[in-house]
Amino acid sequence: MTISLHGLTKVFPGGARALDSLDLDIGEGEFFALLGPSGCGKTTLLRSIAGLETPSSGTVSIGGADVTALPPGRRDVAMVFQDYALFPHMDVTANIAYPLRIQKVPRSRREAAAAEVAGRLSLSELLRRRPGQLSGGQQQRVALARAIACRPKVFLFDEPLSNLDARLRLEARTFLKRLQGELGVTTVFVTHDQGEALALAHRVAVMDAGRITQVGAPAEIFHRPATTFVASFIGSTPMNLLPGKVAGDALHVAGAVLPAPPGLPDGEEIVYGVRPEYADLSAAPRDDAFPGTVAVLENLGTSTLVTLEGGGDDGDLLVQVVVPEGEEPPAGTAAWAVPRPGRALIYHGDRLIHPA
Ligand code: ATP
Repeated sequence: MTISLHGLTKVFPGGARALDSLDLDIGEGEFFALLGPSGCGKTTLLRSIAGLETPSSGTVSIGGADVTALPPGRRDVAMVFQDYALFPHMDVTANIAYPLRIQKVPRSRREAAAAEVAGRLSLSELLRRRPGQLSGGQQQRVALARAIACRPKVFLFDEPLSNLDARLRLEARTFLKRLQGELGVTTVFVTHDQGEALALAHRVAVMDAGRITQVGAPAEIFHRPATTFVASFIGSTPMNLLPGKVAGDALHVAGAVLPAPPGLPDGEEIVYGVRPEYADLSAAPRDDAFPGTVAVLENLGTSTLVTLEGGGDDGDLLVQVVVPEGEEPPAGTAAWAVPRPGRALIYHGDRLIHPA
């Protein structure tokens, strides 16, 4: 089922504008992530699709039909909450079959359906247990099974992996991606974890203050963030965003003189973005590099994040570079961060102007 939101606005009593005239189209079978900082409106958006929140204005359509006025039970969507919302006094079978019970499906049919879904999610051994006797990962699978059992047209997940520890989270991520691919049900999930959004989704919407700043495939969001906000939000290490100026065919940025791509507005202030992974360190001075002093070394496992301090005219500028393990310079030494050719993102008035 497709999902279309048009002009969606939600102002809560008290004045918080959680959604601000938002438009969004989600395709049939798509795995779609809503990503953004705390308070940007992700949960409100998801709840509006579910019918748990009434928009102040605008419309929600599912499968081409306007469902704005329909209650949650008539929208054919299943929502999995952050805390899974399992019934503690019911066993796994009863939990999975609960929505079917509400739909008045006869007992034998709903138990058969629960057993079938439980098998798919490797829960068959656990059918008689109660939620309190399950691990976090197992509880999550019961919550998913419950959502799947009613065969909805749309799945809505609110931070479905947030209660799992780091290892389980990675496992559950792979599992969720495979399951969504097999079922082919349009799925919208909310996360504030950009790694999770990029890893799972076909497309990601980055939200800020009730609006969508950018929608795109993970690679597009990662390599061509449309604004400095998206650029600063996406990436396991934050992007270097350095103030600079265009001077003819050169860019003056944080003590470096770099070749300016053609077509930049001469004489204008810009922001030069380069990911720490796309810069290298030099121990010798270079004109085309950001000078600084090695201030902090952070071990990333197979690589090290090096923070240089003091590049540029304003001495408190920080530039970060990821170097392979074993190649980090000693703290306190001078170093030059050399951005790799072709990797620069250039912003003017907060919008990406290069690459065009
Ligand atoms: P988080 O990642 O922290 O869950 P979010 O992006 O999901 O955040 P929402 O929960 O959608 O954000 O909240 C968006 C804005 O609306 C916030 O400013 C929040 O304080 C406000 N808000 C949410 N629910 C209500 C409510 N029931 N009453 C009043 N304000 C609310």
